[in-house]
Amino acid sequence: PSRVPRKPNWIRRAAVTSPVYFETRRIMREAAVSTVCEEAACPNIGECWSKKHATMMIMGEICTRGCAFCNVATGRPNALDPGEPMRVAAAVARLGLRHVVITSVDRDDLIDGGAGHIAATIRAVRGLCPETTIEVLTPDFLRKGDAWQEVAAAKPDVFNHNLETVPRLYQTVRPGARYYQSLRLLDDVKRAGPSIFTKSGLMVGLGESIAEVAQVMDDLRTAGTDFLTVGQYLQPTPRHHPIDRFVTPDEFRSIETVAKAKGFLTVAATPMTRSSYHADEGFAALRAA
Ligand code: SF4
Ligand code: SF4
Repeated sequence: PSRVPRKPNWIRRAAVTSPVYFETRRIMREAAVSTVCEEAACPNIGECWSKKHATMMIMGEICTRGCAFCNVATGRPNALDPGEPMRVAAAVARLGLRHVVITSVDRDDLIDGGAGHIAATIRAVRGLCPETTIEVLTPDFLRKGDAWQEVAAAKPDVFNHNLETVPRLYQTVRPGARYYQSLRLLDDVKRAGPSIFTKSGLMVGLGESIAEVAQVMDDLRTAGTDFLTVGQYLQPTPRHHPIDRFVTPDEFRSIETVAKAKGFLTVAATPMTRSSYHADEGFAALRAA
């Protein structure tokens, strides 16, 4: 295993001290809903939870994939919990969220990849919190046929699926996934529901070149993807994929400029950007426009 390199001063973990942080934690514990904030050991948790921005993670805490960058446990997952959609809805109501991000582990073990459960969760949140905008961050539904259609039919406001990295690095970074499958999923959802905003994200610092990142942007725009997030990859433990480099804040600014020029409606590209980081703000700005 490689050593995790020293972080530059622009990589910061916000302090976890605010009373709201602890209130968020209590609400999530009482609702018995998992969060990707905790499972992925996200460095932004201090900041996000101090604003009650918790990203729900459904379908268990064990994933059937083992992406080389991800801190979520791999293994054989438990059966789906039919009570979970309502518990997620209750947590959204208690947190008072105007925008919620709901993600999940990958469930290659299920015939529909979990599409029905994701759709049920969208419907439960819609029913209990009709004012809340809903963003789902989904698996790729590889070898699950048209299962994704059930998610699109539940009409989330934002359908997010991360490409994560450039195609050349898929074999080492996302070995269970296929670049084209992920791109096509975004394309399919956009065609099936043009009023659904589609969104994707990339990590940088895994060994990609800026030219490769620009190519992925072009691919996403060809697939009609509306929103883009780009953030620095941070190695969760020495066993995970090594960091190739820390991309500087100036480079992030130029990535953002290029992405905007390519026509994405909203772009978030900073070292600490994550798929769900400030997700409500980009969407609120768009609705106000
Ligand atoms: Fe959670 Fe996303 Fe914030 Fe990280 S960036 S703490 S995953 S809401
Ligand atoms: Fe992590 Fe998602 Fe990959 Fe599973 S599919 S290992 S949760 S990034």
